[in-house]
Amino acid sequence: MKITYEGEDHSGSAHRMLRLTRMDKAVQLTGLSQPELVSFVETLGEPAYRGRQLFGALQHRRLRNFDEITDLPKGLRTRLHEIAGAATLKVESQYTSDDGTRRYLMKTHDNLPVETVFIPEERRDTICFSSQSGCPLQCTFCLTAQLGLLRSLTAGEIVEQIQIALNDAYGIGVKPPRGTNLVAMGAGEPLLNLDELMKALRVMADPQGMHIVPNRVTVSTAGIVPRILELAKTSDRPHLAISLAAPSDELRNELMPINKRWPIDELLSACKVFEKTLKPNERLTFEYVMLDGVNDSDEQARQLANLLNRHNIKSKVNLIPHNPADPLPYRPSSEETVERFKNILESKGIHTYVRRPRGRDIFAACGQLAARQITRNETLVGALN
Ligand code: SAH
Repeated sequence: MKITYEGEDHSGSAHRMLRLTRMDKAVQLTGLSQPELVSFVETLGEPAYRGRQLFGALQHRRLRNFDEITDLPKGLRTRLHEIAGAATLKVESQYTSDDGTRRYLMKTHDNLPVETVFIPEERRDTICFSSQSGCPLQCTFCLTAQLGLLRSLTAGEIVEQIQIALNDAYGIGVKPPRGTNLVAMGAGEPLLNLDELMKALRVMADPQGMHIVPNRVTVSTAGIVPRILELAKTSDRPHLAISLAAPSDELRNELMPINKRWPIDELLSACKVFEKTLKPNERLTFEYVMLDGVNDSDEQARQLANLLNRHNIKSKVNLIPHNPADPLPYRPSSEETVERFKNILESKGIHTYVRRPRGRDIFAACGQLAARQITRNETLVGALN
């Protein structure tokens, strides 16, 4: 059976400006690279350096309002107001977890939910961003699946999520005191929106902008095989993580229906191709959500180790205790079970880590993003918009 995924978006950059213009009656500048901004201001009869200035204001200082870009002439700012936009996402609510994690629930210009999670750690911050509003995949352990796909996000909407989180954490224009890591592990399947995702990552990597380099970015996929192969050919690609969740096709078909389209052997063969592009210190990550009594037995640990050893991929496994949510039919594996599972994998030579859940109390943890409004700890944010 051929399944088509509506989220797959092949629109190239040539059509982007046009599409945005039609969509919004304004060109969205946040998703444009420095050369694109230069061409854009040149179409307004401005010199190239104004484009570079604008890029620095939007991407380095993270300004979201043209009025704040006071080094641009007033006439140009007025013109920009008329024909362009820099802030399309509006923060609707914001939640802070007991562990310091912050979740932002935002809305797009067409009123669709976008969620972003800011996770402070000792030496760095991690921002978990969404690549789509909702998600077309139907993983049974993930709450986002229940939204279905609303639409793929534009490069500008991806960049804006990071700007909003950093501006809230440190203030507009303030350089983050610690490094910023990005993970495409929020809502959506990033590899079904690869063009816009790569465009956003390139804008954010620019040294004259946020300067978040590909080495600081991890993209997680449920296993879109052709896009994994495409990413393997991309020289400025981010790190890759694969959500595995099961050691056999039988169980994976049930938990992650995408497996019927690209079964485990096909997926791991693509990973083997990807492996050839790994840098000396880089490993592919396999994520394994631990579901009590479903995929966490000793036998399944041995099966997983054998599977990974058979394919012999330079990788590591991240065990993620399931983050429960109301309509999901699973419970998290106990700490002891997770530890035992880890020990079995390690005894068979697999590098294994256990991911500590962050922000569970505010529905900010992996698999909990489904635009939930909660009343506890809620602060409405007006100042950010
Ligand atoms: N679509 C992508 C990225 C989003 S999910 C993907 O599938 O990888 C990011 C990670 O969260 C995945 O590894 C997924 O397996 C995990 N996840 C999803 N639901 C979860 C839940 N309820 N508890 C713990 N992890 C979950």
